[in-house]
Amino acid sequence: MPPTERPPLVLIIEDEPPIADVLRLYLDRAGYAVAVESDGMRGLAAVRERRPDAVILDVGLPGMDGTEICRRMRAEDDWTPVLFCTARDDEVDRVLGLELGGDDYITKPFSPREVVARVKVALRHAHAPDAGDVLVLGSVTLDRGARRVLVDGKEVALTATEFDLLAYLMRHPGRVITRDHLLEEVWGYASAVGTRTVDVHVAQVRAKLGDASPIRTVRGVGYSAEAA
Ligand code: CA
Repeated sequence: MPPTERPPLVLIIEDEPPIADVLRLYLDRAGYAVAVESDGMRGLAAVRERRPDAVILDVGLPGMDGTEICRRMRAEDDWTPVLFCTARDDEVDRVLGLELGGDDYITKPFSPREVVARVKVALRHAHAPDAGDVLVLGSVTLDRGARRVLVDGKEVALTATEFDLLAYLMRHPGRVITRDHLLEEVWGYASAVGTRTVDVHVAQVRAKLGDASPIRTVRGVGYSAEAA
């Protein structure tokens, strides 16, 4: 980034000081501005006041649960990328789910290097300078310039990752795209995450778009976009 530009602010909401400290260190080294809160209530206040570019959110927090923080952000129409840190693999569907709307997750124990990579991807999604074209498939209209999705003219709120996933599939209608290919194209780090991430995000897009969803499962291969 140019030196005159403000570095992106990453807010870490994490109550275990050793984890918060190491994340701060790595993010700082990667050139980000970093803020840390260790309490859920103060964390939510910091989200509202400091308007971070990305949030790393622990699930178990004193004061207010990480999931509740994300739920409130989304209810307030705040779509800042949220990377959940969870100790439990079975929480993944919930934190990325329809109600909570997280963008990504990482399970503890994690490597700080990987967290930095995820933050980079999240910021890329949020600020992707997309071509200003509009894609239409069945009753779904995807405006890449405005990053909006409409179903029968009514806007549907997608997370940045969900948007990019749908946009990629809709840019290649009728073509079967493998999970690995989607990971590479949408997430940009195929080796670091499991293909389950793709399935979870596809499930969310389908849940949000309902019957209009153009995403078809090609069993054993991947996904394709076709008019519903
Ligand atoms: Ca915790």
